[in-house]
Amino acid sequence: MNNLGFRPEDVALPVGHFLAGRLVPGGADIAVTSPGNGRILAHLPEAGADLVDEAAQTAARVQRQSGWASCAPRERAKVLRRWADLVERNAMELARLETVCSTRPIAQTVGWDIPFLAEGIRFFAEYCDKVGGDVAATATNLLGMTVYEPYGVTGAIAPWNFPLVMASWKVVPALAAGNGTVLKPSEMTPFSVVRLAELAVEAGLPAGLFNVVQGTGLATGEAICRHPAIGKLSFTGSTRTGIAVMKAAAESGPKPVTLELGGKSPQLVFDDIPSVDDVADRIFRAFTGNAGQVCVTGSRLIVQRGVAEPLIAALVARCGQVKALAPWDENAAYSPIISEPQANRILALVQGSVHAGAQELVACKRMDTNTGGVFLSPGMVMVQNAECPLWQEEVFGPVLAIQVFDEDDQAFALAEHPVYGLAAGVHTASLPRAMRAIRTLKAGTVWVNRYGRSSDFVIPTGGFGGSGIGKDLGRQAFEANLRLKSVLMAAE
Ligand code: NAD
Repeated sequence: MNNLGFRPEDVALPVGHFLAGRLVPGGADIAVTSPGNGRILAHLPEAGADLVDEAAQTAARVQRQSGWASCAPRERAKVLRRWADLVERNAMELARLETVCSTRPIAQTVGWDIPFLAEGIRFFAEYCDKVGGDVAATATNLLGMTVYEPYGVTGAIAPWNFPLVMASWKVVPALAAGNGTVLKPSEMTPFSVVRLAELAVEAGLPAGLFNVVQGTGLATGEAICRHPAIGKLSFTGSTRTGIAVMKAAAESGPKPVTLELGGKSPQLVFDDIPSVDDVADRIFRAFTGNAGQVCVTGSRLIVQRGVAEPLIAALVARCGQVKALAPWDENAAYSPIISEPQANRILALVQGSVHAGAQELVACKRMDTNTGGVFLSPGMVMVQNAECPLWQEEVFGPVLAIQVFDEDDQAFALAEHPVYGLAAGVHTASLPRAMRAIRTLKAGTVWVNRYGRSSDFVIPTGGFGGSGIGKDLGRQAFEANLRLKSVLMAAE
């Protein structure tokens, strides 16, 4: 792609909260630093409990008074479709706002994040008039029904790794289902969602239905979780924070939660694969995409002995090929690490594992770059046992931990993780093996002979165990934003 490059200083940043349809600037509490060059981009105001209260009360009032929930559902769908069109029309602006403070290279935000965001809005628009309720089988002098209704206001808390897409997975189904919403983006990636909310109002969404509050988890996130007018929470982030969110929801409601949390996803490769090169490409993409800062990063390779040597050699060769370019360079394909502390954490995890006996096949190390950003090269580590920190902990960086197996049973045992169960990949030419893997692996998603989501929004995503509760995407994500009311009518 050409002509995508830009200069970060040329991007006009919407700095502030978005309340009742307006950008609300405020204090300068939080410095936002670009991972692409390490420079401070802006200082962000932080919403405390008062401002979160104003946002929630505004959303509740507008949800009650605007007719958003009570209008013909296809009217809601029309507004959402106009919003998707506006997202596409403003794609370059949104892509730059996304790229300037996140780890997402501009060619990817233009080529994937923004089109995926627009189509996701259209997907949920289609559900507006497709989910109603049921008629129950009762005696004929009674009419028993279940009817869906919105919660009123939902709270959404998003991470920094795909700021627009992750936020949209929470906010869009909530709005489509007739709710108002209060979103807190990550304090590291606060700008693009403000423009997204402005575009929603331009498309006809009642001002005040979708509010964005800026701030840290402890000050702003916690206040959202505990607000009494917020009836349902949707959170994406680490497992540790997810537990805090659930606790706050329990203490202040209780209110239902959707939690999309961390992962340590295994990729099983059997020695019957038809092409080592194809599988190497898949595995490589799965642990280096967004520099490993993806919830479903395939960070554990479990490979059968017969194919281990050529596959590992093919992966080692690929590790040497990545280039560190600033995300706003149109040729950038590899991502920086979100922050200096996160880079130090990744390197410490690798070092700790090597000290504990793991063997480094390719060192994950700081890359020489003149961008000023922090880049870590892809690393590969042969792990001796399941206690190794690199086998246990979510690294959220470009590091592949590897173990070799002989028998299928061993592979399935190695794939088990004591905490996480987000996703798993299986690479095999054998249908019986694939079927056994699908049934055996404890993961919310199992990919066979591919790794990663498609653009089929209809397939829900979510984890088992410590990887979360509930689903994003799919009909399930729409329904999660509705509560079910039971009705029983007598004839007289
Ligand atoms: P994080 O848990 O540090 O933060 C996520 C969000 O929660 C941020 O907006 C943060 O400000 C907020 N927050 C922090 N403490 C809070 C609290 N006490 N109460 C309320 N909100 C609070 O996660 P992160 O570093 O932004 O994102 C990386 C993590 O997200 C990884 O663990 C990754 O696996 C996970 N993730 C999961 C999915 C999924 O679909 N399962 C998708 C993307 C990322």
